[in-house]
Amino acid sequence: MRIYGPYKHPKTNRKIVIIIHNNGKRETISYPKFLMELYLGRKMHKDNETVDHIDSDIDNNSLENFRVLPRAFHSAEDTRRVKPVTLKCSWCNKKFERFPRIIRDKARQGKRGQFCGRVCAGKYGRGLQLKQVELFDVQKAVDSKYYKRKYASADISDLCDQYLELIKKL
Ligand SMILES: [Zn+2]
Repeated sequence: MRIYGPYKHPKTNRKIVIIIHNNGKRETISYPKFLMELYLGRKMHKDNETVDHIDSDIDNNSLENFRVLPRAFHSAEDTRRVKPVTLKCSWCNKKFERFPRIIRDKARQGKRGQFCGRVCAGKYGRGLQLKQVELFDVQKAVDSKYYKRKYASADISDLCDQYLELIKKL
């Protein structure tokens, strides 16, 4: 048995790995599923379990971004590939990334400033209380932009070995 990938599927734009079985049979599985099954140490249920990307970015294949959902609940958002926007922290000037939907929510709520994290937001809040800083502007809402098809590959040979071990055990 051999595993190849991850490749981008030309039609769905999603990452896949290809398993060539000893009898020559070819099996395609999604890369997120491959990673999740490795993590769980078992095969996922074909119909009842799917991997959902929490941030809706199908290219963000880190384990913290995964959750297992029944197929019926699988978020339609997941088919979208939203790009995060790079912003500069109003307090410390550090660059950070944020999804447009969150920026729009904050704009709608009239939240002022854009902060890389709670620490900077807190410092701003204290500065305001002590009247040491002036009110920052409300950040402008931005439209969502989507990733274009992008070929991505990574060296996952270690993971492939582990996966082969896993499916041999089952
Ligand atoms: Zn900051």
